[in-house]
Parts: sequence; structure tokens; C-alpha cells
Amino acid sequence: MNNSSFLIITGHFFNPHSAVKWDNIPRGALCFNERGRIVAFGEKDDVLKEYPVGRYCELIDHSDSIIFPAFVDTHLHAPQFHCRGFYSDNLLEWLENFIFAEEEKFASSAYASNIATELFKELVSFGIGTASIYGSVHPNATDILFAKGAKTSMKLAIGKVMMDRSDYETTEESISQSLDLYEKWEGQNNGRLRYSFTPRFALSCTGKLMAEVGRIITGNKALCQTHLSENVGELEMVKKLYPDYENYTAVYGRNGILRKGTIVAHSIHLNDDEYRILSASGCGVAHCPDSNMFLHSGEMNLARMQKEGIPIGLGSDIGAGSTLSPFNSMKMMIYSHGRSDIVPETAFYYATLGGAKVIGFGELTGNFDVGKDADFIVARKPRRVPEGADNIRQILSHLIFCNGEHHVRAVYLKGERVH
Ligand SMILES: [Zn+2]
Repeated sequence: MNNSSFLIITGHFFNPHSAVKWDNIPRGALCFNERGRIVAFGEKDDVLKEYPVGRYCELIDHSDSIIFPAFVDTHLHAPQFHCRGFYSDNLLEWLENFIFAEEEKFASSAYASNIATELFKELVSFGIGTASIYGSVHPNATDILFAKGAKTSMKLAIGKVMMDRSDYETTEESISQSLDLYEKWEGQNNGRLRYSFTPRFALSCTGKLMAEVGRIITGNKALCQTHLSENVGELEMVKKLYPDYENYTAVYGRNGILRKGTIVAHSIHLNDDEYRILSASGCGVAHCPDSNMFLHSGEMNLARMQKEGIPIGLGSDIGAGSTLSPFNSMKMMIYSHGRSDIVPETAFYYATLGGAKVIGFGELTGNFDVGKDADFIVARKPRRVPEGADNIRQILSHLIFCNGEHHVRAVYLKGERVH
């Protein structure tokens, strides 16, 4: 051990590895260095043997708390921050009635700047350390979003929404503005900021634009995000607009959009061929159960996604989602699916490491593997947990179903306390 300084956090740890595998360590410890990198994790006695408390090694005791990785939100719309809870039972009407008008306000840099400040403050307060974010169509507003995000310790994928079927922009403008932002922000903050090309969805983009995005992301191994098969009415319109394609998923697949590093949100109404296309492509799915219930869009088939080995992460999808709270997203996920599909530990996996893998930050965050950033949440354990204080399922369940955000005591990102 050299003379760098280390911080050790002790407490009851939950550490996810997959949807079915996790560690439950009631007397655990996490040690990280001054750069916020994890150097040791496991049983408290083992960690303290390797890193004894002393002049260069400080200990903070949270033995009455549950500690788990910081959350990951795989899908949210920054310009819809103030559009939550506006009632509609239909995606396309909701977009026309509330969303497009609000997103136009982001032509104003001052407006965009104020919302970005509020957004990042709220994300961090919920313990969200990583997110994939849609901006508006305006390059300047997206640039502001990056600049504000760069000042946080978050890992972020952000993109300017591309919609060249509208009056907002031409295909050429959409591509060149996105490329400028990519050049400026891709890989900044030591790889913790990524640009994500963001063709909004097949109804707002031309085939020409999608083919060009497919070419760019394939050539550069760049990130990409879009929406797929959210609403039945949307499906009908896609069929009319793209008669030469066998299904909605093929519109993206044949244009090169679907690959590792691409996130498709929702993916609810799919046929067998479409599951096969997604599975073979390596892309991930942002599952947004709160939004899907709010807009009566339908339910993603979780069991089928798992069976096909398609990576999944949870997303709030604000403004169709009602809150950024990952506890709420997990609750809605459990409500949405059959009882054999998901238990609280599995929901926590999808809200942490599962999401990190989907966005492309799985090597940096999502659990307590040595070498990753020390991104974690310290939460008060529920006062009464049935049968033994180490019953991890009931501790996590209580957080999910009883507004866990009120239990959060501290949020650390890259080893630094940010909330
Ligand atoms: Zn969305």
C-alpha cells in the first residue's frame, strides 16, 4: 500500500452480479482510493486486514444502513422534465398535446440551462449515478445539457433528438449538428461522457437519416438510442410509412441502427422475428414500466426478453414516467410482470448493473467490482424487517414498495459524497 489516502465504508451491502446472482454481505466493507476507484470489497474483517485504519485510511461506519450501487436510468427526456403527469391514454396524442410544444421552448438557452440544472440536481438526489438522456432537437440546448452534466460526477450518454420528417430540421442539419456534438463531447471526463446518436423514432425520421446514423455508429462504435414499438397506433403508422419493411424492428435493423451500444426503449409489441432480430443484434432494451402503464401502451414481455438473452435496464422515461425515482420504476416493474419473473433483488439488478451494461458503462459502475468507480447509496434499513435483520429480500422489498427515496441517507459518486 502506498501513501495515497483511502476511505472505507462499512455496512450491510447488496451487490448485484446478474438478474439471478448477487452478494448479500451483512458485515461488509468497501474501500476506495482518492480517485474514487474501488480497491477492495467484501467481508469487513478481510477488507480491514488488507487496508487497516490509520493515517492514510479513514473509516465511516454505516453498520445500521443498507448500501447498494448507485442507480442507472437508461431512458429519460430532459426537455420533458416539467411534463410529468399530464394525462393522456395515447402516446401520439400525448406527444401532440403536450410534448412538442414544451420541447420547442428549448430553443431558448436560458430555459434549457435552468431545466438542466434542475434535472441533474434531482437525478443525483435520487442516487442516479448514470443515465442515458434525450435532449431536444436544438443543438445548443444539448450542448448545455452536456456542459451541466460534465460538472457532476455522473456517467452520461446524451444526444440531440433527430427528427428530419418535421419542420425543425433537414436531414443534413440533423446529421451535421449531431456530428459536431459527438466530436465535442464523446469520451470527455475520462470516458464518463458519451454522445448517443438519437433518431427519435421511425415516425419522425427519414430512411435516409437512419441509414446515415447506422453508418456513423457502426464506423465509430458510437452509442445510439431510439424508441421501438411502444404503441399500437404507432405500429400502424410505421407500417404505412415503411411498406417495404417486414416489421418495425427491421426498419432499424436494415438501416444499421441495431448493434451493441444501441438502446431501444419499450419494445412492447414484437413478433417472433423481431425478438430474433433484437437478440442477434446485441442492442439493449430500456424498460420503462411506469411510462408504459401511464400511456396504456402495453407490457413488455420480460420473460421472453430474458429467454432471448436481450440485455435490459430500467428507465423512468419522464415525462411519460411520473418520477425519476428508481424505487418507483422497480415497483412498477414488479407490478407489471408475472410473479415468477421478478423478485426485489432482480429489480435492483435491472436498476443498477443491468442498466449500466445497456448504456455501455458496465465496466465502470453498477456493482462493487474492484476497479470500478465507488458509486453507491447509503440508505436507512427499515425498522422492522421480519425474521432476522439480514433478510435482504425484505429489506429491498421495503425500499421498493415504501418510497425508498425517503430512506436515502447519502449518495456517493466516484467516491465523493454528492448528496
Ligand atoms: Zn421516451
